[in-house]
Amino acid sequence: MKIELWGVRGSLPTPLTDTEYQQRIKEILLSSAEKNIKPEDIDRFISDLPSHLRHVFGGNTTCVTVESSSGKLYIIDCGTGIRPLGDKLMQGKSGKGQEIITILLTHTHWDHVQGFPFFKPVYIPGNVINFYSPFNDLQQRFEYQQDFRFFPKKLEEMASSKTFTKLEYGKTFSPEKGLDIDMFRLKHPGGSFAYRFRENGKTFIFCTDAEFIGESVEKFTNEDDCFFNNADVLILDSQYTLDESFVKLFWGHTSYTMAINCGVRWNIKHLVLTHHEPSYSDSRLEQNFDEAKEHLKLTGSPMTLSIATEGTIFKL
Ligand SMILES: [Zn+2]
Ligand SMILES: [Zn+2]
Repeated sequence: MKIELWGVRGSLPTPLTDTEYQQRIKEILLSSAEKNIKPEDIDRFISDLPSHLRHVFGGNTTCVTVESSSGKLYIIDCGTGIRPLGDKLMQGKSGKGQEIITILLTHTHWDHVQGFPFFKPVYIPGNVINFYSPFNDLQQRFEYQQDFRFFPKKLEEMASSKTFTKLEYGKTFSPEKGLDIDMFRLKHPGGSFAYRFRENGKTFIFCTDAEFIGESVEKFTNEDDCFFNNADVLILDSQYTLDESFVKLFWGHTSYTMAINCGVRWNIKHLVLTHHEPSYSDSRLEQNFDEAKEHLKLTGSPMTLSIATEGTIFKL
């Protein structure tokens, strides 16, 4: 399996601000000042910069792809990250109207569907878009998003053909030989679902828009066949700091502290923190990540911890 992150921001797209950009330039210039860098040293200088100066986390909302070992692509969610994904697909079979595209939806809050009208392959006749979710009315939800009051083009006016399939909760979905996909119902206003992909003995779980708090976690974690146990990679909602999670109780998201506690408890090999709060700058996210790493150290767990960044690829 190859997992790629196209959108990692929660709630709202978040472009880099001018102030942040200028601050970054200042810090880079300061660190270069005493180094007398020649043009041929620039690439090395960049790769030696601290991570918050070397990259941006990215402002696009949720979109992740999973490529199975057969090369088939599964898209999870249609946040604005699906736009650059669509641009890439257009260079291949999508541009010729020969692509069959699979999209799984965790739920349909804005930040998980708002990129879809800007996903170019959907405008190309011949392409087929197959949607899957546990929701009864997914088609109506997508039609509603493109009602003329909200968007100039109706869903049915987009030239590709589309199908909507309801997945039966509790039943494994096996879209191809050797790949099993299961779901887990999450605590989130309006409902949301985690997806677990299993192939060749490896497990990847995508779990966002989920509020994990003490007792509810205890309850299902103690079950022998806990959905999350022993995953190789778990991408998990961690929108808040611990303090914020108390203020924003029942808003449907988890603190990074709790996300780490869950990851350790579920014996996850690699935990990836995602659904970043839109009001946090990159440097604030970097600071949160440092604190998250400190918290993980206190647990004594060998779990690998990452923070989701657009463009990151995980191979299993
Ligand atoms: Zn969300
Ligand atoms: Zn949501």
